[in-house]
Amino acid sequence: LQAMELAEANIRMSELDRLKSAFLSTVSHELRTPLTSILGFAKLIGRDFTEQFLPLASGQAALEARGRRIADNLSVVFHEAERLTRLINDVLDLSRIESGSMHWRDRRIAPLDVLRTAARSIAGLLAARPEIVFVFDATEQVPDLFMDPDQLIQVVSNLLQNAVKFTRTGEVRMTVRTDGEAVQIVVADSGIGIPESELESIFGKFHQVGRGDTLSDAAKGTGLGLAICGQIVRHYGGRIWATSRLGQGSAFHVRLPCLAQEEGPARIP
Ligand code: ADP
Repeated sequence: LQAMELAEANIRMSELDRLKSAFLSTVSHELRTPLTSILGFAKLIGRDFTEQFLPLASGQAALEARGRRIADNLSVVFHEAERLTRLINDVLDLSRIESGSMHWRDRRIAPLDVLRTAARSIAGLLAARPEIVFVFDATEQVPDLFMDPDQLIQVVSNLLQNAVKFTRTGEVRMTVRTDGEAVQIVVADSGIGIPESELESIFGKFHQVGRGDTLSDAAKGTGLGLAICGQIVRHYGGRIWATSRLGQGSAFHVRLPCLAQEEGPARIP
C-alpha cells in the first residue's frame, strides 16, 4: 500500500511540476511583449534626447548637467529592462526544458563550426575588453555530434560570457578535445574564481556567488545561465562541471557524447 501511495504522490508531484512550468512559460511569454515596448521606447527617448535636446543645452552649464543626469537615469531604465528581458528569456527557456515542451532541432553537426559561431558571438563583448585575450584552441579533428546546434551555441555562449564577465584581465580560452567517445569543451578564464564550496551550487537556479558585487548594472546576470547549461547538456546525455582556484580563475568543462548512430547520441554513464 505504501509503495502505491508513494507512486501516486510521485505522479501528483510531476504533474504539479509540469503545470508550474507550463504556467511560467505562459506568464513569461505575456511579459515579453510589454517589455519589448519599454526597451524600444526607452531607446527612442534616449536617442531623441541626445540628438535633439542636449545640443540645445550646449554652453549652459546648469542645463547640461541636468541633461546628463536625465541621460544617466534613462540608461538605468534601459539596462534594467534589458536585464528583465534576459531574465524572462532564461525563465522561459528553463521552463520549456523542464516541462518537456522545448523544441529540440537535433541534427548531425560538426562541433568546431558551431563553436566558431559561438566564439564570434562574443566578439562584441571582447571588443569592449581589450585587456582580455581570447584563445580558441581546437587543433584536433573532432567527431560529429547529434544535437541542436543552437543549444550548443547557447551553452558555450553562456560560459564564454561568464568567463569575460568575471575576468578583469588575462585570458579566456576555449579548448576542444576528444577521446573518440565524447567531445570535451573547456572554457577557462583567469578571473576572480569560485569558492570550492559553491562549485556545484552555481548550477542551481538563481544561485549567484555573493561577493559584494563589483559588476556594472549592464553585466549583472540572472543566476539562471548555468542552470540552463546543465539542463541542455544533461538532455544530450553529457556532463558539465566546474573547477576553480579563487583569485586565479575558473574552468567549465562540458562533455558531450559523440554520434553513435543516426538515432541519437550514446549516453555517458
Ligand atoms: P549569472 O547570470 O549570474 O551569470 P549563471 O548561472 O551563469 O548566472 O552563473 C551563476 C553564478 O556563478 C554567477 O553569478 C557567478 O557568481 C558564478 N560564476 C559563473 N561563471 C563564473 C566564472 N567564469 N568565474 C567566476 N564566477 C562565475
